[in-house]
Amino acid sequence: MSNTRRLSFAVHPAHSSVSKLLIVPLSLLAVCLAAGRIRADGLSAGVAKVDITNKEAGPVSSPLYVKALVLKTDATTAAVITVDAVAIGEIGHVKNDYLPTVRSRLKRELDIAPSDVLVNASHCHGVVCADVAERTVQAVKQAVGNMLPVKVGVGLGHEDRIMENRRLRLRSGREIDVRHAYAMPPDEQVAAIGPVDPEIGVLRLDRSDGRTLAVLYNFACHPIQGVPSGANTADITGFASRVIEDNMSDGTVALFLQGCAGDINPAWYKDVDHPRDAEPLGNMLGLSTLEAVRRIETKKDARLRVLHDVIQLPRADLSQPIAALEAKQQELLQSLSGTSLNLKTFMHLMVKYRLSPDFPSYYSHGYLHENAIERDDLRKLDARNRADMERYLGNIHTMEELTRVRTNLALLRKHQAANQAAGKPTVDVEVLGLRVGDFLLVTFTGEPSVQVGLNIKEKSPHEHTFVAGYTNGYIYYAPTAEQLTNVGGAQEDSDCMLAPEWQALYEKKAVEVLNKL
Ligand SMILES: [Zn+2]
Repeated sequence: MSNTRRLSFAVHPAHSSVSKLLIVPLSLLAVCLAAGRIRADGLSAGVAKVDITNKEAGPVSSPLYVKALVLKTDATTAAVITVDAVAIGEIGHVKNDYLPTVRSRLKRELDIAPSDVLVNASHCHGVVCADVAERTVQAVKQAVGNMLPVKVGVGLGHEDRIMENRRLRLRSGREIDVRHAYAMPPDEQVAAIGPVDPEIGVLRLDRSDGRTLAVLYNFACHPIQGVPSGANTADITGFASRVIEDNMSDGTVALFLQGCAGDINPAWYKDVDHPRDAEPLGNMLGLSTLEAVRRIETKKDARLRVLHDVIQLPRADLSQPIAALEAKQQELLQSLSGTSLNLKTFMHLMVKYRLSPDFPSYYSHGYLHENAIERDDLRKLDARNRADMERYLGNIHTMEELTRVRTNLALLRKHQAANQAAGKPTVDVEVLGLRVGDFLLVTFTGEPSVQVGLNIKEKSPHEHTFVAGYTNGYIYYAPTAEQLTNVGGAQEDSDCMLAPEWQALYEKKAVEVLNKL
């Protein structure tokens, strides 16, 4: 087992003071090594959680938490913080000053380097309190106050019942996605659905006496199912963490790290026949994680490393897709055709013509009688009604498509305006690498599609590699280059500031970081 040492190699411009800070621990390390004070088995950890539910935001179903896991060897201290919030800045209730505030306070008050702080948002859509930064610092302080020697183990869980890919490949070759913001296309237009990642990455930390201290688990799914009452909730992953904590040693804290969930929805997301309920989905995720936790054997392992880097990813020029979508919008509008029917008459006819396709307008004997007297009034009525229904239905489908076009056009315009106002063609993106024993993690600031995580896992030199999106900032969706050939068709490729080249650049950097861990 080798001695640990800090390996940070690049620094976010916003934290340029960090470069100076790095010199200190490295020189300290040299002194410690010379004095023979570095212990090869000296990993300790502390853990804590603090309620961050906004109690003024209405009824609460399940509390939202900030949770902190502080890991320490003589050479390195790392803080892993998970927040039950939609994102770290940019959207939702966690403001943009949250991360710099937390980092500078942790540096000042606990001497934890900003580059060694990992903050992941679960992406649940709950409402957090206004002083979430203060409570985050509290959580880390409590964790630091509870440091114990720990044993470490890594394992894999499996869960494929609670989620589905939300991007649908249409027979036309285009893709759309499953959202509440707009209607689904007719079933017969749908040809295929995208992949999921059923893997749960689990880090188990035990006290010296074998009792669990913390479970850190990584999985990819939007926790946006909600609860039947509509109350404030930490959603699927909040319920999953509760199941884990309730079934391990007293005081165990389960920390959820959101994965590459950009295009992953809860299963049955658009169900209209049952109340929307995150709890059973969360319970399944929690139980599947527990299965993995129980299989893990922990051991002394002092390998703790953090790597911090920043890459520049290209911003997209969305002027062409915007023009194309505006033209499509006009084309759809002009295609709406006049019809005699309205909703009331259409619904009435729809029921009749589906109930009795051969004799919709009267009993069968009426049709037989007309045949006998060589009249076809009913048949002519049916032909006219069927043509009207077809036109009316066509208009409905066009209107549904217009809701999708309008929603995605608004997203494209928003990101085009932001990209043009940015003043440079790239966006700085923080990439953090973390090793705890055999647990390897690399992060991204936005919402990567699941395929990005699958690619990095495949290319990683390490067996237990996991990827956490939604970490240390928020730059919206990050779909694959292939998905970005569909700009304007689905949320991920429209709610995106990045050019397609981002994917190769990031995956290369992620693997580079993993290789150095
Ligand atoms: Zn999302």
